Amino acid sequence: MSAVGPAPADGRDPATARDAAAVARDLARIVGESHVREPVPAELLQDATETRGVRGAALAAAFPADAAQTAAVVRWAAEQGVPVVPRGGGTGYSGGATPDAGSIVLATDRLTGPPELVPEAWRGTFGAGTITAEVHRRCVEAGLFFGPNPGSAESCRIGGNVATNAGGPRSFRHGSTRAWLSGAEVVLPGGELVRLGGDARKSVETLDLLGLVCGSEGTLGVITAVTLRLQPAPEVALPVLAVYADRDAGLRAITAAMACGVVPTALEFLDGGALRAAAATFPGGLPEDAAFAVLAEALGTAEIAALEAAALADALAEDALVVRRPDARADVDALWRWRDGVSLQVVAARGGKLSEDVVVPAERLGEALAAIDRLGDEHGVPVTSWGHAGDGILHATVLVDRSDAAALAGARDAAHAMLGIAADLGGALSGEHGIGSVKLAGAATLDPAVLAAQRAVKDALDPRGTMNPGRKLPPAAATPAEESGRGR
Ligand SMILES: Cc1cc2nc3c(=O)[nH]c(=O)nc-3n(C[C@H](O)[C@H](O)[C@H](O)COP(=O)(O)OP(=O)(O)OC[C@H]3O[C@@H](n4cnc5c(N)ncnc54)[C@H](O)[C@@H]3O)c2cc1C
Repeated sequence: MSAVGPAPADGRDPATARDAAAVARDLARIVGESHVREPVPAELLQDATETRGVRGAALAAAFPADAAQTAAVVRWAAEQGVPVVPRGGGTGYSGGATPDAGSIVLATDRLTGPPELVPEAWRGTFGAGTITAEVHRRCVEAGLFFGPNPGSAESCRIGGNVATNAGGPRSFRHGSTRAWLSGAEVVLPGGELVRLGGDARKSVETLDLLGLVCGSEGTLGVITAVTLRLQPAPEVALPVLAVYADRDAGLRAITAAMACGVVPTALEFLDGGALRAAAATFPGGLPEDAAFAVLAEALGTAEIAALEAAALADALAEDALVVRRPDARADVDALWRWRDGVSLQVVAARGGKLSEDVVVPAERLGEALAAIDRLGDEHGVPVTSWGHAGDGILHATVLVDRSDAAALAGARDAAHAMLGIAADLGGALSGEHGIGSVKLAGAATLDPAVLAAQRAVKDALDPRGTMNPGRKLPPAAATPAEESGRGR
């Protein structure tokens, strides 16, 4: 499927042959001149894959004010055959919002109309451009709670969370974004503005189109507003952090926590490399021989959360060097801020990192960690992992100095090899960050029949192929042979 018009007779790339200034003029007629950027500033051409050297290019960027302008931009792009790359906060780890030359960026920054909160029905509707931390804050003010808490919450946008079906530590008990979504306003690839789902907490009157859009990484439409099915705000959050001198002790503790009869809101792990990278900022300091940590959390009424935290602490205590149970609000917040910052601390260790968010069945976490270490040794690169132990999600990471081209190439090879762990251990290529552009080669090894079904959905909804092409779905031609073994 071609995303743009026929190639000009002079043989130039049809994508780059388009006149950026003319595109910007067309977009300005829709959103106003002051809301178009041409040339496109560097910060709109990258996402969190910038740490692995991924950068894009685009003709222009448009910042629509509302759903009607968004629909007009998308309709214009479909008519012109210009690819549209929806953009939230640009925190994605898969290159989904990093545009290819010849496309336009559709930035959702201005889709932030006032939220509508209905506390008595545990519901909230937010513009897609609302920063996720602001969603959390507004919910708390209304006595409500929104579960998904990605570490990027201060920068990502709720529309981006829906587009990636984002998770976070608290998704272990509370589910990823899809579990909290009752409706969304969406501009389909042809420019039609539709409402999927609605205010009611449940609806089965159509195919699950809302579920299709959630996690589609901008390939099936632009989300302009979301309606969230919320919960009453918990009274307290009580984390329990336990540190171990070796990985096996930590893995045994995770098993014990899973068996202790409490469903923690979060069950996180960090290996020795991640702990070393983030040790300097750990509130209260870490034991010198810390080689593994487990972080669990109980959330709810003061009485019940205290009982659950005590049970979790008991389960994690055996073989632990230290168990910490902060309960003052400031200390709890400081601990979670530290956890949210681990990713950036790991980047700082060498200036760059390549992370794969491989997911495996939870009981195979130990095998996955051992396989990552082996790959690090085989490729001669430093590796580390941390992530959501309860969900079996590992941020399997190669540390790299991005200014060293040879090291970057070696790191890319090692990171790519890590994707094989998912296939070997019965997991998946991505547990939360998505496929975007950087995992397309891995995704091409999936069951050909599944790939064909995905492609049929994409082609039905986006026959011109202008909605974030080259993301999430491998190109039809790259659909692989059965020898991949993933089709079984
Ligand atoms: C430090 C750090 C910690 C992170 N922690 C987590 C974590 O715990 N859990 C987790 O799941 N992820 C995590 N992430 C990854 C990232 O934050 C999430 O994927 C997030 O949901 C991306 O949102 P965004 O607004 O930044 O989207 P972007 O990066 O702008 O876009 C991501 C994808 O969504 C599409 N998109 C964005 N907005 C829209 C829209 N309105 N309509 C249609 N498509 C759209 C884009 O085209 C792109 O394909 C983390 C990232 C960082 C940098």
